[in-house]
Amino acid sequence: MKIYIDGKYYTEKDAKISVFDHGLLYGDGIFEGIRVYHDRVFKLKEHIDRLFYSAKSILLTIPMTHGELMKAVIETCRRNKVRDGYIRLVVTRGVGTLGLNPQRCKDPSVIIIAGKIQLYPVELYQRGMEIVTASTTRNLHSALNPAIKSLNYLNNILAKIEATNAGCEEAILLNAEGFVAECTGDNVFIVKAGHLFTPPLSAGALYGITRQVVMEIAEESGLVVSEPNLTRYDLFNADECFLTGTGAELMPVVKIDGRVIGTGKPGRVTGRLVAQYRALTKVNGEPIYD
Ligand code: PMP
Repeated sequence: MKIYIDGKYYTEKDAKISVFDHGLLYGDGIFEGIRVYHDRVFKLKEHIDRLFYSAKSILLTIPMTHGELMKAVIETCRRNKVRDGYIRLVVTRGVGTLGLNPQRCKDPSVIIIAGKIQLYPVELYQRGMEIVTASTTRNLHSALNPAIKSLNYLNNILAKIEATNAGCEEAILLNAEGFVAECTGDNVFIVKAGHLFTPPLSAGALYGITRQVVMEIAEESGLVVSEPNLTRYDLFNADECFLTGTGAELMPVVKIDGRVIGTGKPGRVTGRLVAQYRALTKVNGEPIYD
């Protein structure tokens, strides 16, 4: 594998960053996870835009333009002969001192890893996932806005530990007011009486790119989509529930905290959206090999 670091390509063994990088010392940096389908990078522009929004929020100057970053992502895929896979794009604050001051970090680092994706087993998509609510509260947006896709993912990791301790792959995070925010690495949707609902971003969710695509395809096919505050009660009594994320795509949820959702099987609306999403991934994206 050839890994991009600051304009050069390194083997896995040689792809290293400094122990004084504030990305490592303080989680001071940002990232994106991007999918490649059929020789195309899916929603690349949207991911790069979100990376720049995260950067702006933490006063980090990415040392490349949108266009340069897109080219570097595509070139990294090309060098690794990626046809279907996953890209991790990371920008760290760069090398500084042991102190917090980010102004001591003169050169942010850009890292691009393009490789294979570890997918959930196919049976899970057919059967649906069981999830739990974590006792870990989602970060307050006044403290560390969950819209920032930062390298500081401890809030998510603590909830993920609760999920795995409960024998689950995912967990719901509630915000400090008790409203549903999202999952540790996915946004959450419910279907109720033919309407689609997902928590608003202000509830403490990431502006998920898959979330956005699903909302668009749902609206195009005539579904009404709303973003109200949701409680666990709303999830428990939904007709259908599913998660969205770049890695997971759309994952049906059939049990939450021991409550069976709907029929206990992946629902019809979810199934339709899954098919529409998959169809989109087949024909969209930035071509890697011209
Ligand atoms: N929420 C969190 C916390 C995430 O890390 C992610 C990305 N894995 C998502 C939601 C889904 O966002 P996207 O659809 O852009 O991958």
